Amino acid sequence: MLGKSPAWQDAGGACSGYLVEAGGRCLLVDCGNGVFAKLRAARDFTDVCAVVISHLHADHFMDLVPYAYALAYSHAARAAASRPALYAPPGARETFRRVTGAWGAEELIEQAFEVHEYDPAQELELGGLRVRFHEVPHFIRTHAVQVLADGGSFTYGADCRPNEEIVAFARETDLLMLEATLEAPEQGGCRGHLTPAEAGEHARRAQARRLVLTHISADHDVAHALDEAQRAFGAPVELAVEGAVYEIAR
Ligand SMILES: [Zn+2]
Ligand SMILES: [Zn+2]
Repeated sequence: MLGKSPAWQDAGGACSGYLVEAGGRCLLVDCGNGVFAKLRAARDFTDVCAVVISHLHADHFMDLVPYAYALAYSHAARAAASRPALYAPPGARETFRRVTGAWGAEELIEQAFEVHEYDPAQELELGGLRVRFHEVPHFIRTHAVQVLADGGSFTYGADCRPNEEIVAFARETDLLMLEATLEAPEQGGCRGHLTPAEAGEHARRAQARRLVLTHISADHDVAHALDEAQRAFGAPVELAVEGAVYEIAR
């Protein structure tokens, strides 16, 4: 767990970033603000073979910028001489160009990474890891991500409002990470996030074996959030802790 904050970081924290390791492969799922420093504290960043981005909100991709500069200029990356693959949602190339084009570096990200705009209907094979996507409803096009390896599965719900898609996609997963952004449901307008109780209820219906709440600010009453989620899930729930390692053993 590299970063679990929502769109604003906790003190010393980072936005969304999850390092998944299996079969000798190292995959980064999301790369929000602050994640690159957390990645460097955990691993040599040149060990990451691929990055997968769930959606194009800043708190899920913004640290691709310092990561790209490191790949372009650091001695370690130049010695490694291989570009990590970057699997991003359809339209990502244009978004990256607009962001880094603000200071005239349109191609920064696509020169540093081998960029692929994924088709969410297609599964990825990355060495011993299989990666699946499923669109979930949020403010912009967003994909839940599932990693399967060694007979186990990790499912990350990305950001989403209450929905049936994640329940079906996460069916009987070994480890489910669901966002629990809200203290209470949004009132009026389009919903985009879950409360802890909603996360617990979705995980119960998916029959997930283990639930970790993420995308939750330390500004919230996290003990209350955990209580609500546990009541809805019907079993113990964990709160994401940056630096924690979650093992999936089958
Ligand atoms: Zn987010
Ligand atoms: Zn979002």
